[in-house]
Amino acid sequence: MIKRGRPTQHRCSFCGRGEEEVMILVSGMDGQICEVCVEKAQEIIDQELRKAGVQPESGSEPANKSSRYSGPIHLIPPRDIKTFLDQYVIGQDDAKKVLAVAVYNHYKRLQQYGNTAPDDVEIEKSNVLFVGQTGTGKTLLAKTIAKLLNVPFAIVDATIFTEAGYVGEDVESILSRLLQVCDYDVEAAERGIVYIDEIDKIARKQDNPSITRDVSGEGVQQGMLKMLEGAEVLVPPQGGRKHPEQKLVKINTQNILFIAGGAFDGIEKIIARRVNTQIIGFNKKEVERIDKENLLQYVSHQDVKSFGLIPELVGRMPVVVHLEPLDLSALRRILTEPRNALIRQYEKLFSLEGVQLVMQPEAIDFIAEKALEYKLGARGLRSLCEAILTDAMFDLPTAGKGSKKQLVIDRAYAEEKLEGSRIGRLKAA
Ligand code: ADP
Repeated sequence: MIKRGRPTQHRCSFCGRGEEEVMILVSGMDGQICEVCVEKAQEIIDQELRKAGVQPESGSEPANKSSRYSGPIHLIPPRDIKTFLDQYVIGQDDAKKVLAVAVYNHYKRLQQYGNTAPDDVEIEKSNVLFVGQTGTGKTLLAKTIAKLLNVPFAIVDATIFTEAGYVGEDVESILSRLLQVCDYDVEAAERGIVYIDEIDKIARKQDNPSITRDVSGEGVQQGMLKMLEGAEVLVPPQGGRKHPEQKLVKINTQNILFIAGGAFDGIEKIIARRVNTQIIGFNKKEVERIDKENLLQYVSHQDVKSFGLIPELVGRMPVVVHLEPLDLSALRRILTEPRNALIRQYEKLFSLEGVQLVMQPEAIDFIAEKALEYKLGARGLRSLCEAILTDAMFDLPTAGKGSKKQLVIDRAYAEEKLEGSRIGRLKAA
């Protein structure tokens, strides 16, 4: 019998924890056992079996087994990588080019030397740092390239980590995600890609380290150094905090590619300051050539350091690249062009109900305009589409035979549905 929830008199007969302190209490004839003690008991059984020369059949034990990623890496030249990315990611040509080259060099090195680097010229790995507003395709780029290469890919959020000793997750659990994705195939994980999102949120609050130190952010950055550079790291297989009795998995991060990304709100000011100081003494023409509307394109390691990432961490991400803010035409294209574009997905959904969905170009314009107005980047496109199409999707399956076989969405329909929706009312208020 399994009980959860309300505190009662029940306690684990082995460790004494009360029902409210554990997730599961299994009741036997004269007592109960909690999930923690079941796990401990399993470990003791495994140990005893091993001593007796029997290999335990533990399903939970992380093992070096093969996974769907154990095949060869599908590496193609940078130009072809970019062509592949073009099918899924709109615009961002600079980022695509730089990423294609970094990824190509990284995996070429791996295919050439494996884990043993030659003595003469050691090619260092090129971890990448993306700087760009939210919803501009940073995660999508990293995810798409991992799909192309057939390597495990994990996304982690830098804000969940804290220094050892504080509440939160250990930095090593970045690698737990990767292990989980490839079903604990350590070899595959060791050549995977990790995307660390919101890296800007763990920045030190001030450029000058002596003023208002943000200890926890800086501590996390320190914790990441070894991992990004390439080292043997002991990883808690289930993530979270390491604890003494836990089995840890050893992972070599030498060939793991780390891509970090963040919006770095306000970095334009830092760039402007640097660019302005640098151009003193240059002639007027040189000054005018700087595109003040899009300063992000000049982002450098120096700016990221001034923003608050520690120099050691920045040094371990040799490739820094910016992502363009998405304009109206990019947002329109995102709605219709990628292989799995949103509008294509909705067309498919409607066709499953036997209805042809026709989105008129003016309706698509309207959605793109609203996404721009609400400053949601491409992230807002889906919620806008949902707001406009929910009523139709709600009624369609029950409409029955003889109902219309075509649904045409024009601008007026889109405007009306959005106005009546929650997101529309919220933004209008
Ligand atoms: P972020 O830059 O915040 O990491 P994401 O890559 O997660 O943004 O983008 C959020 C969603 O917006 C993606 O799932 C994708 O559908 C869409 N998107 C964002 N940028 C692009 C782009 N350049 N091309 C195609 N789709 C994009």
